[in-house]
Amino acid sequence: MKSIDLTGHKLLAIRDAQSAQSAGATSILVCEKCVLTPSARDFLAQNNIALVTSAQGKAASSSAQVDAAPAAKLSAYGANSGAALSKTAPNPRLFFTPEAEAIKKEICAVGRKLWMRQFVDGNGGNISYRIGPNEVICTPTLVSKFDLTPEDLSMVDLEGNQIAGTKPRTSEIFLHLEIYKAVSEAKSCVHCHPPHATAYAITGRVPPNMVIPEFEVFVGKVAISPYKTPGTPEFAQTVIPYVKQHNTVLLANHGIICWGDTVTHAEWYAEVLETYCWTLMLAAQLGVPISRISEEQGSDLLAIKKKLGLPDIRFDTSRMKECQLSDLEVPNSIALTPTPCDGSTGRPAEADLEALIKSVTDAVMGAIGEK
Ligand SMILES: [Zn+2]
Repeated sequence: MKSIDLTGHKLLAIRDAQSAQSAGATSILVCEKCVLTPSARDFLAQNNIALVTSAQGKAASSSAQVDAAPAAKLSAYGANSGAALSKTAPNPRLFFTPEAEAIKKEICAVGRKLWMRQFVDGNGGNISYRIGPNEVICTPTLVSKFDLTPEDLSMVDLEGNQIAGTKPRTSEIFLHLEIYKAVSEAKSCVHCHPPHATAYAITGRVPPNMVIPEFEVFVGKVAISPYKTPGTPEFAQTVIPYVKQHNTVLLANHGIICWGDTVTHAEWYAEVLETYCWTLMLAAQLGVPISRISEEQGSDLLAIKKKLGLPDIRFDTSRMKECQLSDLEVPNSIALTPTPCDGSTGRPAEADLEALIKSVTDAVMGAIGEK
């Protein structure tokens, strides 16, 4: 057992962790306010190096402080980067309750569904469930969602510090945590990369509305958050403006995130969105405009949605304009075949129009020239 004193460090990066390991350390002593980067935390966990805060270090020998999760006691580099220890002490015992065991099984079943439906690839995607006020069960990093077992899962507090479980938690947990902090109704988050929904996400556009009833009721208006590097606090925070009024957000050039009252329901919304995007693309290939559900019939759907307690930005009447139900707040919605409602939706971008005009003009001029 060898402990290295890094109490002078305000930030513990992977370099520090690596040099401690090369020096043969089995634990690192740090100050309570030390912030840990995700890669340093993962490195420590993988190499079984414990973190001991200076307060603990005084209380007992370092070898007695080895946590199940070495990084557990420290603030991670996350949404509240620089924050000290969490205010409400998390309860690691929640991880072993019968409720937690049931949730772990549900997460594994949902992971398998995501993989079977090709919503995740490689080790992509992550799933979490908020089991307590400051406790979130989540999937580990670097494990395929098809292969998940309950033993693979871990638990973190709302700052992303791992408090239970042996495998390092997903590096994307901060995205989920921002949603739990912003929306008290959110109990579970599912992040994945379903191809057709992600196709929209890489165009920077959202699908149009009032085409298929189930989509309006369970998902409805989809938001799109700007691209940031995955795993960073900036990325996690991109969804904050949208998640109160949208249970599903497209992550630009990345994938999607859905939240719900259960793990299963959060996954349903991913399925509903993916199938909807796919169907729109298929319909576009038929070469005729898509029919829309009328405003009046659309109101019925929104009434159903309200009864189910699902969020929708269209409930906020202060944001209503003309042609509301289908087009509110979606200046960038597209189907492959544009289906304008009031001229504001599905309209090709100006650059596209210019290119179209140029190609038509060139064709006409070419034809004239040939005659
Ligand atoms: Zn992802």
